[in-house]
Amino acid sequence: MKIHYCDALVIGGGLAGLRVAVQTQEKGLNTIVLSLVPVKRSHSAAAQGGMQSSLANTVMGEGDNEDVHFADTVKGSDWGCDQVVARMFVTTAPKATRQLAEWGVPWTRVRKGPREVVINAQRTTIVEKEEAHGLINARDFGGTKKWRTCYTADATGHTMLYGVANRAIRDEVEIHERKELLRLIVEEGRCYGGIVRDLISGEIEAYVAKATCIATGGWGRIYRTTTNAVICEGTGQAAVLETGLAALGNPEAVQFHPTPIVPSGILLTEGCRGDGGVLRDVDGHRFMPDYEPEKKDLASRDVVSRRMMEHIRKGKGVSSPFGEHLWLDISILGREHIEKNLRDVREIAMTFNGIDPADPGPKGWLPVRPAQHYSMGGIHTKPTGESPDIAGLFSCGEAACWDLHGFNRLGGNSVAETVVSGMIVGSYMADYCRREELRINTRLVRESMEREEAQMRSILARPERNGMSIFDIKRRMQVIMDEKVGIFRSGDTLQEAVDELQELLKISQKVSVRYKCPKANPELEQAYRVPRMLKIAISVAYGALLRTESRGAHYREDYTKRDDLHWLKRTLVRWRDPEATLPEVDYEALEIMKMEMPPAFRGYGRKGQIIENPLSAKRQEEVEAIRKRLEAEGKDRFEIQEALMPFELPEDYKAKNERLGVGYA
Ligand SMILES: Cc1cc2nc3c(=O)[nH]c(=O)nc-3n(C[C@H](O)[C@H](O)[C@H](O)COP(=O)(O)OP(=O)(O)OC[C@H]3O[C@@H](n4cnc5c(N)ncnc54)[C@H](O)[C@@H]3O)c2cc1C
Repeated sequence: MKIHYCDALVIGGGLAGLRVAVQTQEKGLNTIVLSLVPVKRSHSAAAQGGMQSSLANTVMGEGDNEDVHFADTVKGSDWGCDQVVARMFVTTAPKATRQLAEWGVPWTRVRKGPREVVINAQRTTIVEKEEAHGLINARDFGGTKKWRTCYTADATGHTMLYGVANRAIRDEVEIHERKELLRLIVEEGRCYGGIVRDLISGEIEAYVAKATCIATGGWGRIYRTTTNAVICEGTGQAAVLETGLAALGNPEAVQFHPTPIVPSGILLTEGCRGDGGVLRDVDGHRFMPDYEPEKKDLASRDVVSRRMMEHIRKGKGVSSPFGEHLWLDISILGREHIEKNLRDVREIAMTFNGIDPADPGPKGWLPVRPAQHYSMGGIHTKPTGESPDIAGLFSCGEAACWDLHGFNRLGGNSVAETVVSGMIVGSYMADYCRREELRINTRLVRESMEREEAQMRSILARPERNGMSIFDIKRRMQVIMDEKVGIFRSGDTLQEAVDELQELLKISQKVSVRYKCPKANPELEQAYRVPRMLKIAISVAYGALLRTESRGAHYREDYTKRDDLHWLKRTLVRWRDPEATLPEVDYEALEIMKMEMPPAFRGYGRKGQIIENPLSAKRQEEVEAIRKRLEAEGKDRFEIQEALMPFELPEDYKAKNERLGVGYA
């Protein structure tokens, strides 16, 4: 029996996991990272468009700072996020971006002088300042007031992941690949690492650690049509759920991206519209300005996806053998721009659809339709990244509900979150490791390993049945999620989804596997993963069924208003009874009277779509009074912010950020 010991165990070697690992290792802690795949092939490598960070170097970002980024993020979340976390995030993001430059990420840079761009489908010339020459550039993205998304052409995730992975290698972080976390070792409310399966040898091993961080990415593969990689199956979150103690936060908050290409579902980055591309319908008409006159094609993702489906429902979609779709037109950006800044998009379009998007006019238009893209929900944590329920258990990145995104994540805020939360959560995790001793009875570890070994043997020993295979069950789950827990939701269909998923869970727990090899065996892997994925899927569907309002990406056709009176709260889902087919659901209030930015109109659609909470107006008055008083006393924006909503950060990150022309103001 192999038992590995370390101070800090990180499950997941994407951007978030590796960034946490660098942090704990640099603090002198022995750190091990586990990953299903070679870490540089983690899903983070697929991120295209960029990372939000209020550097304000480009002329189109002038006036940007933490306050503007904060306001965009809170509005983007439809007031569902934790505002303290949003403040921690926006304050640290510029430091993270600059640090990544130092680590070798080749950010696209500003070039001084005139430059042609496309804004609102019109060619325009902007003039970059002399003193900005060579600084990190930014492009426009959805739901933001300023051009804030730093990028490396359309391969941002790739370059960021290589930068962070190379740093981890330099720092001699131990990386163990082809390992899968099955279960956490939890005793008396404290986590001591995990039980892991080697995906090549099939061996069960234990990793015993002072602290464990789950950074296993999103759970997009519970849907059939998703932009997520095949490894995004939510098994890390399921391991947390199966402790019976810790909770998932807001599982029903699922993002659908407007522009995956049809039929493969591969994403075409929001950078396409950020750089000036537009959406068109069957008549070639640019329809988004009809619905959202202010932000048009660059309204936030939940809004654009809904408007696209609404437009298709009105008969304006384009028929195809793969269902109806709309067009994304980036041909208006010109060949030179596309070949330089959107070259991956072009390659995807040419490889999978035989279309060169730089060809002018309809010939270059790309078929697109919204698909599942991001999980705002995840492992519920405190702002330090630690679970409030299990000591020594941390989480960050897409796996977590830290909760930066609430009910809608802004494009570019996710890769930013991975590195920023990696820095912050890694610091708090290091503090925990320094504070705590590792004392655990090795009998407990051995017993946990034996239990997992017995479980594997019992799956292999199940008698042959003629019913559904594990692959059929998985496919059925994905179709249910697509059809009944999608962009438009309603009570009847959600209830059907919950019922059907519960049935599938029961079947999946008894499924037999035809191939009996205990080593590398995809069927066996699915046999233990799919029941866990079903628990996540049920949590998503059940959370959506219970939330009788519309907020951000969660849109109920039978409850179309955002209900701040009853639903300004975070869903918490726990799976206490291992035999149950439904989780227990609880809620945590978001306290309006502590918010820096109390709930208000988000700026999309028509007004009057909110069931107001009287506390919102009361807090708004209070905020305005505090602001007025402190301004009269000559306080600066940082002092006013601190008075409105104080927040903690590890010291290095609380420092002010410098910007061109304004210094540290
Ligand atoms: C196509 C696409 C484009 C995107 N573009 C952008 C963008 O431009 N800007 C932006 O901000 N966001 C973007 N996103 C979102 C962003 O890329 C992800 O949210 C982010 O990269 C997730 O990083 P992560 O480190 O949390 O997880 P991941 O990168 O998914 O890494 C998860 C890691 O966990 C490991 N793992 C999983 N389960 C287990 C297990 N059970 N045991 C052991 N290891 C496990 C995996 O091997 C992997 O190493 C995009 C997403 C997609 C799908």
